[in-house]
Amino acid sequence: MNTYGDNGNILMLKYVGEKLGARMTFDIVSLEDDFNADDYDLVFFGGGQDYEQFIVSQDLPTKAVEIKRFIENDGTMLAICGGFQFLGKYYIEASGRKIDGISAMDHYTLNQENNRFIGDIEIHNDEFDETYYGFENHQGRTFLAENQKPLGRVIIGQGNNNEDGTEGMTYKNVFGSYFHGPILSRNARLAYRIVSTAFHQKYPDVAIPAFENILADETKGQKITDIKRKVEK
Ligand code: GLN
Repeated sequence: MNTYGDNGNILMLKYVGEKLGARMTFDIVSLEDDFNADDYDLVFFGGGQDYEQFIVSQDLPTKAVEIKRFIENDGTMLAICGGFQFLGKYYIEASGRKIDGISAMDHYTLNQENNRFIGDIEIHNDEFDETYYGFENHQGRTFLAENQKPLGRVIIGQGNNNEDGTEGMTYKNVFGSYFHGPILSRNARLAYRIVSTAFHQKYPDVAIPAFENILADETKGQKITDIKRKVEK
């Protein structure tokens, strides 16, 4: 799935990986393709609108065992919006139809009536002391399980559910978020964090350059200056 150019995240993963000295190659794993966890060091799972999400949900059970094996073996993954929702127990569409996720984790996603969470968003990850910026557009309201941490605390915007102040999640080496934009092109520190996590998993003894030495100059101060809220009826 690829809402709002989410697959642009792959360009950023490639860019940062190459800055770290890695040769980066990618496959698209689509409907009816096999997914073998052992073939990958890093997985990206984009977002989709309900129509596309339903189609993907029909195919996903064929990949569920391997996706879970990848996650439990400390594989590094970024999942956005619909992809994030599908890693959990279930997702309820705007229409009220319930769609099973793969239950790799225990978060779940409820729907809401005649409303979507749309707009610019800013969050802060207190553990990493990093601020992330993005754009959210989802009707699903996601609630995390106890063994998941939010990707950040909402500063501006609505986040997972507009109730508990959380946005996204981390679990083992998996990062989930509602941010489109794509998230990594706007948040180089997160891109560095994700790629370096995968790098360390694959080459634990190889030292890599620090963020400050390869990316800091390219990411000076991005702030939300113009916040617009739009509610679709
Ligand atoms: N269809 C889902 C929702 O509305 C996910 C949307 C998305 O991936 N942008 O919650």
